[in-house]
Amino acid sequence: MKRIFVIVAALSLLFSYSSDAQEHCGKCKKSGALNLTDEQYMALADSIHKVAISFDTHVDTPTYSLHPDGHYTVAKGQVSFELMRQGGQDGAFFAIYLDQGPWQNQKSLDSAYNWCVDELLSWKNYVEGSHSQEAGIAYSTDDVYRLKKEGKRIVVLCIENGYPVRTLEDLDEFAKIGVKYITLSHNTPNQICDGSRYINSYYWYPSTGHGLSPFGEEVVERMQQLGIMVDVSHISSESLVDVLKIVKAPVLASHSGCKALKPSQTRNLTDDEIRAIAAVDGVIQVGTGRFFLSDDLPYYKVGVAILANHIDHIKNLVGYRHVGLGTDFDGGGGVIGLDNSSQMKNLTVELLKRGWTAEELKAFWGGNLLRVWKACEDYASRFK
Ligand SMILES: [Zn+2]
Repeated sequence: MKRIFVIVAALSLLFSYSSDAQEHCGKCKKSGALNLTDEQYMALADSIHKVAISFDTHVDTPTYSLHPDGHYTVAKGQVSFELMRQGGQDGAFFAIYLDQGPWQNQKSLDSAYNWCVDELLSWKNYVEGSHSQEAGIAYSTDDVYRLKKEGKRIVVLCIENGYPVRTLEDLDEFAKIGVKYITLSHNTPNQICDGSRYINSYYWYPSTGHGLSPFGEEVVERMQQLGIMVDVSHISSESLVDVLKIVKAPVLASHSGCKALKPSQTRNLTDDEIRAIAAVDGVIQVGTGRFFLSDDLPYYKVGVAILANHIDHIKNLVGYRHVGLGTDFDGGGGVIGLDNSSQMKNLTVELLKRGWTAEELKAFWGGNLLRVWKACEDYASRFK
């Protein structure tokens, strides 16, 4: 009976919350604007997750699920369709990750491409074969709404590292398979652009001009024509500037943090970079890797509040329409209180306590990402 009362109270708060919180958030943004008990906050979070479409835009789970014997050594099992269901999480972008190899070597490129296609098809088979009752692949934003209605987990295919892209025709093939974003590089430079980690090191590849290579420019252009979103996480600052100069539709940073809060992390985004991504109506999905979040705390003490500081920083800088979550689960992500997909509502509770409204949270969890995805779809439809 008590539980029913809490849920009814939470639902009524949900529908009156937007105006209520707006009155409060100026004064009591930081601590429990609604003065609810922990149980009531969790019931409210639960209600929001039921009506929102919630996405995590970066998990490395295919590597774990397809190679449980420990491929690439990172294998924790932080994501499953059941854990997602428990956490009120509808969908995730499941990345096929590739190590960087020598891009001047055709044999290595061919083997990276073939391996990537094999992994994508195996993961598709995993979802659409033995797991089709509980999950489905979204090839379009329409599919997202359909799968949500069916109560299935939503799987989106993506590639972390553009290393397997040998030619523009390879992009056509990836689009046909259903890939919805490609992270242009992974830390080190490749044939598309420079990565973020080795700025000022001997790894710079002179012909890229430290940003996008001429081939990289063609790749970005073709990706957008095919409706494959451009993921700017992991790329160098110079590459980001080059990308934003030529894109015709919004981009996403699938898993990135804020340099203002963790300056020592070269992969985090500066305030100027965050503004520049917002200026093309893009979205920054904050990652949960502990090494990206705090210079003040030892990594084992980093929890949900520190993660929420990065989210709030972006909201304060460019508005809630440009921020979301990309955990990097099964690839190094996870903080205290948000260490697998079943714990997503803990973050919602933290943000509610900071004065986030239901509408803002719906945008954070999926509305912003779907806006970017739809804009990319609309742009690509001109080239069909
Ligand atoms: Zn990554």
